[in-house]
Amino acid sequence: MARYTGSVCRLCRRETMKLYLKGDRCYSDKCAVERRNYPPGQHGQSRGKFSDYGLQLREKQKIKRMYGLVEKQFKTYFKHADRQKGVTGTNFLILLERRLDNAVYRFGFADSRSQARQVVRHNHVLVNGKKVNVPSYLLRPGDTVTIAEGSRQISIINDALEALPRRGLPSWLELDKAKYEGIFKTIPTREEMNLPVQEQLVVEFYSK
Ligand code: SF4
Repeated sequence: MARYTGSVCRLCRRETMKLYLKGDRCYSDKCAVERRNYPPGQHGQSRGKFSDYGLQLREKQKIKRMYGLVEKQFKTYFKHADRQKGVTGTNFLILLERRLDNAVYRFGFADSRSQARQVVRHNHVLVNGKKVNVPSYLLRPGDTVTIAEGSRQISIINDALEALPRRGLPSWLELDKAKYEGIFKTIPTREEMNLPVQEQLVVEFYSK
């Protein structure tokens, strides 16, 4: 599956907001959005208003980029959410939040979702005591996520844990830093997720 390999800061600039794709740098004055908060390219500063379709497309791209997914995976989550009971947009965000790589990032075991994906793929993570190296693994309430004992000296994991206070731990997760263990306590509500996105626009985009 083709994954974007260009400058990730360019993605944030395209959405004119911080998507926090680069760890430390995102919190420094080197952040590209802090320096140039307009879309990249020759016409970046002269773009006019978006049409309804344009707004829906941008919102979809923003969320997709935030979670580091490709279109096919992203759309699959939408279809899954659409089949569930309740509000499709909220179901959709919950599915994204339940991904193991996202939880590893949220627990502070990695500085970004892409780094979290590497941490999972390289067999550093256990779910309920068993090694799981699939970033898309969906967590259920009560699941524990632990860094494998032999991986607890890895500097990127420890550096990320040290930096967790600046972004905070979401209310639906619990962390025992000394044990390198987190618990996915409950399914979050939309209010708890506190994400600066309009998921309804994504629902409208895919419902055409
Ligand atoms: Fe986005 Fe981080 Fe780059 Fe800033 S530093 S533009 S938040 S990836």
